[in-house]
Amino acid sequence: MIRFDNSYARMPEGFFARVDPTPVTAPRLLALNGPLADRLGLDRDALTVGMLSGNSVPEGAAPLAQAYAGHQFGGFVPQLGDGRAVLLGEVTAPDGARFDIQLKGSGPTPFSRRGDGRAWMGPVLREYLVSEFMAAMDVPTTRALAAVATGDEVWREQGGLPGAVLTRVAASHIRVGTFQFFAVRDRKGDLAALTDHVIARHYPQADGPLALLDQVVAAQAETIAQWMALGFIHGVMNTDNMAISGETIDYGPCAFMDVYHPDTVFSSIDRQGRYAWANQPNIAVWNLAQFATCLIPLMGEEEAAVEAATHAVHRFAPLYQAAWLRRFGAKLGIEGAPNQALIERLLSLMATQRADFTRVFAGLSDGTARDEFIERDAFDAWARDWQALSPDRAVMAQANPRRIPRNHRVEEAIVAAVAGDMAPFERLFAAVTHPRDLHEDWADLAHAPTTGQAVLQTFCGT
Ligand code: AMP
Ligand code: MG
Ligand code: MG
Repeated sequence: MIRFDNSYARMPEGFFARVDPTPVTAPRLLALNGPLADRLGLDRDALTVGMLSGNSVPEGAAPLAQAYAGHQFGGFVPQLGDGRAVLLGEVTAPDGARFDIQLKGSGPTPFSRRGDGRAWMGPVLREYLVSEFMAAMDVPTTRALAAVATGDEVWREQGGLPGAVLTRVAASHIRVGTFQFFAVRDRKGDLAALTDHVIARHYPQADGPLALLDQVVAAQAETIAQWMALGFIHGVMNTDNMAISGETIDYGPCAFMDVYHPDTVFSSIDRQGRYAWANQPNIAVWNLAQFATCLIPLMGEEEAAVEAATHAVHRFAPLYQAAWLRRFGAKLGIEGAPNQALIERLLSLMATQRADFTRVFAGLSDGTARDEFIERDAFDAWARDWQALSPDRAVMAQANPRRIPRNHRVEEAIVAAVAGDMAPFERLFAAVTHPRDLHEDWADLAHAPTTGQAVLQTFCGT
């Protein structure tokens, strides 16, 4: 039995629509995250295929779809909302932390617009792999508790595809877009209630909306710096995909760079490069400015509120810069040293020589990094200056994954899963959730893709 305590279901009218998941034809468990179940204090026997597919609503759950708005690629949409997800309810882990248990791909809701409310197996398994890798690298993120095949077909551009449901776990699913939903409707009372809820739930030290803004800015600066240090490209940093908790959320067309270049974009729909790797901190500031705009009506006299909110958003830059230096400094094992120029020199060498991001940093520990460069002299000159700072190998080993969920491997695992073979998924999952281990059996999973294997585009066709 799961002990739910559903605080969001107690929020005022209009925050959500109550809706049960829509049953599926032939649910079959694809993956269950036992260690996460343990961390949440959930009895594994309570995590039945019936519950994880949405076919049976467990006692104590209060399924609902959350209302939110959002800027999608800069254009404001006043109503989005959970169009294919339901929040089953919230649980409290043994350490007292509260978590949402959400089913994604669980059928239509009042917010589905033209969508079918479903997900296909590909994006479900992709999110499962990538979010659990992020967690293994200590990046704030939503988690994947389970994946279930539905036995139903989902129609996408590619044709009929096997449907699936992901059980997603998050500190909460409250986004910048949740605040925007109420702000655009001038619902000040609801904005205040949402602010109080978020403070109590995520930032209990914050004494009001301005302090909340400060803390969200700080949390996001840390999270984005971690993305950058892993070569991660979120792909759809719309305001509805930025969590107030600071967790990475909504793994759609996301991907990790193989070859390093700051302008890298994977998402097929990101034609302007709005969400390119190097642009992510700028977009974070843009999104946080939208969040700040929502809070201003709660911050007292307008002119002073605007000034305070602007100041708070501007704090992102120094906080991010410090986090970036700390993260990349750790990747070089030279924490605390004035190392910005050295980091930038390496990145610029990597970009001009099209070096593999993950392999260069992992290879610094064992002397194989230079193999990633075409002009080795330039790398050697850099490496001499770096070595002179006596890098700490333990720090590097902690900061640099040997294996990431590379796109071509994720695709391979999905193709096999669709054909009924979960072994490649399971092997990749084990390898990327132990990303720092040197492990001979997984050596091939650390390889960069060959030209033929490289995946250059990802799709929102979720
Ligand atoms: P995303 O781009 O994943 O952040 O989704 C944007 C919005 O589209 C959200 O409101 C989603 O719930 C909704 N959405 C995405 N896919 C579907 C789908 N297949 N059916 C219904 N709604 C969807
Ligand atoms: Mg989304
Ligand atoms: Mg999505």
